[in-house]
Amino acid sequence: MSDLNPKTKFIFITGGVVSSLGKGLASASLASILQSRGFKVRLRKLDPYLNVDPGTMSPFQHGEVFVTDDGTEADLDLGHYERFSGVSARKSDSITTGKIYQRVIDKERHGDYLGATIQVIPHVTNEIKEFIVSDLSDEDFVLCEIGGTVGDIEGQPYLEAIRQLAYDLGRERTMFLHLTLLPYIPTAGELKTKPTQHSVKKLQEYGIQPDMLLCRSQIPMPENERKKIALFCNIKEENVISALDVSNIYQVPLAYSHEGMDRAVCRHFNLPCPEADLSKWENIVNILKSPEGIVNIAVVGKYVKLLEAYKSLNEALNHGGIANKYKVKIKWIDAEELETNDPEDYLSDVSGILVPGGFGLRGTLGKMNAIKYAREHNIPFLGICLGMQLSVIEIMRNVLGVKNANTTEFDENCEAVVGLMTEWDKDGAKQIRHKDGDLGGTMRLGAYETILKEGSLAHKIYNSEKISERHRHRYEVNIKYKDQLKSAGMEIVGLSPDGGLPEIVEIPNHPWFIAVQFHPELKSKPFAPHPLFVDFVRASIEKSRLV
Ligand code: GLN
Repeated sequence: MSDLNPKTKFIFITGGVVSSLGKGLASASLASILQSRGFKVRLRKLDPYLNVDPGTMSPFQHGEVFVTDDGTEADLDLGHYERFSGVSARKSDSITTGKIYQRVIDKERHGDYLGATIQVIPHVTNEIKEFIVSDLSDEDFVLCEIGGTVGDIEGQPYLEAIRQLAYDLGRERTMFLHLTLLPYIPTAGELKTKPTQHSVKKLQEYGIQPDMLLCRSQIPMPENERKKIALFCNIKEENVISALDVSNIYQVPLAYSHEGMDRAVCRHFNLPCPEADLSKWENIVNILKSPEGIVNIAVVGKYVKLLEAYKSLNEALNHGGIANKYKVKIKWIDAEELETNDPEDYLSDVSGILVPGGFGLRGTLGKMNAIKYAREHNIPFLGICLGMQLSVIEIMRNVLGVKNANTTEFDENCEAVVGLMTEWDKDGAKQIRHKDGDLGGTMRLGAYETILKEGSLAHKIYNSEKISERHRHRYEVNIKYKDQLKSAGMEIVGLSPDGGLPEIVEIPNHPWFIAVQFHPELKSKPFAPHPLFVDFVRASIEKSRLV
């Protein structure tokens, strides 16, 4: 801890009462308003589950797996952090109990503990503390969000670790922020404060006295309730902040600032509070409030029953809309429905079609039917990862008549247009995988460069020859089909720097058909929308005007 910059302060964010209160969004929003006052921030997520990372979890359970530039598979909250703060997350910003225990056990096996009995306190808690203060430079604030809800068994070592850190660093360098719910009881016509009181009591049992409460509610918090909460929870009145539901997530930073949250944070740390510049959020909210029009775009996916699985994608489409001053209305279509029904019934009312990434065979025929429909009806189409692999398979099957064209992910004995990748290059070093190797953390992950073909649509959109995008996949389109694809009208216009891995395909004869092996949605921000999404939405708006 000795190399920690003395100015760096830590804000620990916990949640109480119920899960899904939006701690990630709250943390990201607080970070962004502190930034708007000129402070440098970093955001970190501590997840109490035992998985090493969420990479092997079902998207139906855990939602999207976010991927950082440095190839970490992390909780989707890191996506909120990046979208709101613009700060690229790193491996050192995401930890799980699985990772912590892995480190502790590795050290034990290595003999690092010199004969000690290994215990949750101090060995696990020390490891958590080390993680929190690691890999920092000159940040003013590090915001650490603890996953789960106070009272969960899994979360206890984290609460103990942050209690100890506050003791080690001093209260003037740390702040505990607790997010709670004030449920509205219609029969009483009131917001109820009791669950918040209980939740704070629970925190106090762990030795943590929150400095600030952020109270989610459906209706405004009356002044007398604020006073009551402050008194019963031992918190300054001005540090009981109301977080009223808002209609759009990008309103949250403005709402928090309006409630005085950033000023209260400065007061807590005894810091001068420079004037806030919230203009970028105001611009976004103004566009969202009065768009010039609405464009319908279909997303044909496997996980549409849990939209958290498409968090970044949803946001990237919204960003594309914001850049065009349009509202993007997403029609979520379960790909399986397009396997037995006529795609026309589902897609005739949309002006753009997107097939996102995914794993497994289920729904892939439906996705290919959607791709065929977009291709044949000149509807702007964006394919992402599996969406690109299926675009290639679709054209091989339906234009070139290679009926057994497939990916070895689904059929080992197919015409393997898409195959398992066992060797590739990463920053000059060879990466090697085996067919029966571990599934966790072994995909092609993180940022890789792509060289774009001059004169292609992608080149025009990116306005650059070399780009870097984030990856998360195990299979890859085989370059040897390049000429066959070209004869069917599809061109490979983006390649890995060694020329071996197709990264982008286009259909030059189509108004807008681009499919990419990477995940552009992961890098889009509301104030820096991703160019592919901006242009895809633009092309979809154009299409809607033609109808
Ligand atoms: N399942 C495919 C692969 O592993 C695509 C992955 C994805 O869409 N993220 O290559």
